[in-house]
Amino acid sequence: MLHDSYSRKHSYLRVSLTDKCNLRCRYCMPPGGIDWLRHDQVLRNEEFVRLVRIFVSMGVTKVRFTGGEPLVRKGFIEITRETRRLFPELNLCLTTNGVLLERFLDDLADLRVRNINISLDTLSRKRYADITTIDAFDRVIAAIDDASGMNSFSVKVNAVLFKETLDELGDFLDFAAEKNVILRFIERMPFTDSRGDYSFLSSDVLIEALAGLGELRRDNSIDTSVAMMYTVLRQGREVKIGVIPPMTHKFCSSCNRLRLMSNGRMRTCLYDDEGADLMEPLRSGAADDELAGIIMKAIRKKKEGHSIECRSDEGGCQALSAHSMSRIGG
Ligand code: SAM
Ligand code: SF4
Repeated sequence: MLHDSYSRKHSYLRVSLTDKCNLRCRYCMPPGGIDWLRHDQVLRNEEFVRLVRIFVSMGVTKVRFTGGEPLVRKGFIEITRETRRLFPELNLCLTTNGVLLERFLDDLADLRVRNINISLDTLSRKRYADITTIDAFDRVIAAIDDASGMNSFSVKVNAVLFKETLDELGDFLDFAAEKNVILRFIERMPFTDSRGDYSFLSSDVLIEALAGLGELRRDNSIDTSVAMMYTVLRQGREVKIGVIPPMTHKFCSSCNRLRLMSNGRMRTCLYDDEGADLMEPLRSGAADDELAGIIMKAIRKKKEGHSIECRSDEGGCQALSAHSMSRIGG
């Protein structure tokens, strides 16, 4: 079992299949993109599968493919298919920006990738193009429609919280009710590689605003390890809302996550650069139990929590970490 020195049990692995992306979200990466990894610096399909196999043998029960944008990774379906073949019962999940999702939906249903999180930070086509710098709004909406209509998936729509988009909250609630999806708002986290525009908004401000739009009820019976769940009764319809506040209400004490980056580095925390390199030993012929030993050693060194402070008021975020979310794997 993957216990750290604070008795946290790690059963959830987020795998960044690529650092590349077909969008350039302002809060996630600089306009020219990050310096992409070279082909030989990225794990090959079979290397991803082998590492996932080792993590699962150590106690991981949930694997989420993310990125960068996982659907631009050549071999995405092959990696998913082989993982599913090895682990018929594994909870396989996907986080995507949704731009290419429609063409993958049938395969994802066949491979029982049940939980799909689609990122959408605004319901305005114009703002979408401004935030992501690409005009792909209609494709994402079409993908949400198709995925939520298929009965094969549990679809969540994830929006990063910004002061500038708070005026869309009512539209978001109506959208979630109409499409029958769970909506989750995530506090923006600070990374050095992202641009400064679109400003931090705390979840406390969001909750206050939600209460003004309908009867708001806290429903902690359906909380997840990161999301505080609410329902809002709006025009006779119940809308489920998740609030993910990594900055103002840290959830480090219940963190069950590990991350594998596309360059073969594992991280025990988004904000901790340490972790361990798995690519070099893997390519030098390390056996499974040696790799498992390296993983375990990194987990035992996991820190109690991050020390980034974001204030709920105008001040925004104080400390910054290196890299971008797109490279680490959000
Ligand atoms: N490209 C995919 C997508 O956008 O869903 C997967 C990778 S992306 C890094 C995963 C999630 O991280 C997205 O929901 C994105 O909005 C979120 N994200 C990126 N940068 C962030 C930041 N600075 N703070 C909070 N969330 C962020
Ligand atoms: Fe790409 Fe996702 Fe980052 Fe946007 S948030 S740039 S879609 S990795």
